[in-house]
Amino acid sequence: VNGDSDAKNLRVKLVLLGDSGVGKTCIVLRFVRGQFDPTSKVTVGASFLSQTIALQDSTTVKFEIWDTAGQERYAALAPLYYRGAAVAIIAYDITNPDSFHKAQHWVKELQKHGSPDIVLALVGNKADLQDKREVSVQQSTDLPLFNIAVLVSPKDGIDFAEKNRMFFIETSAKTADNINQLFEVDQ
Ligand code: GDP
Repeated sequence: VNGDSDAKNLRVKLVLLGDSGVGKTCIVLRFVRGQFDPTSKVTVGASFLSQTIALQDSTTVKFEIWDTAGQERYAALAPLYYRGAAVAIIAYDITNPDSFHKAQHWVKELQKHGSPDIVLALVGNKADLQDKREVSVQQSTDLPLFNIAVLVSPKDGIDFAEKNRMFFIETSAKTADNINQLFEVDQ
């Protein structure tokens, strides 16, 4: 991940994009506060939080996280947040195919208008709702999740991520599954 750096302290601007209701705010709050609040309020405009993590070699990474509103009427504001971002997390809800289509739209927009070296991460959230799953993925069990290029039998999420050379992971803000792993992309 490229960010402003002196070697030991990286600063990474990160933006979350995706349909309203896919769980962007919950993902950030899970990561930053370690909490899940099922009554979390809809994000209006965008909100900002930061979190610093320490890597094994004593490097620290400060994530400056912009959580954007998914509503159509704020779409025109999105470039203000993704411009200059080192990482864009594009989230969808695995129980909601429309949100997956919307994610594809965001990917295209970022590929066209984002910085050329932006790291894109596609995230299928609400992975705890397996019985309601409508966007399916298949992943090799013995390979790291992020190693998209070598994943086998891609379908839907994986297939799309692979074609677009992005990171891909499924998360649950509710159970905390893979939330920390998500933010450790490209360590
Ligand atoms: P945002 O509009 O993308 O920021 O979505 P929110 O973070 O506000 O979450 C929308 C709704 O989805 C809320 O009712 C959350 O409780 C719920 N939610 C978020 N993440 C998860 C998850 O991982 N699993 C489940 N089951 N529900 C979730």
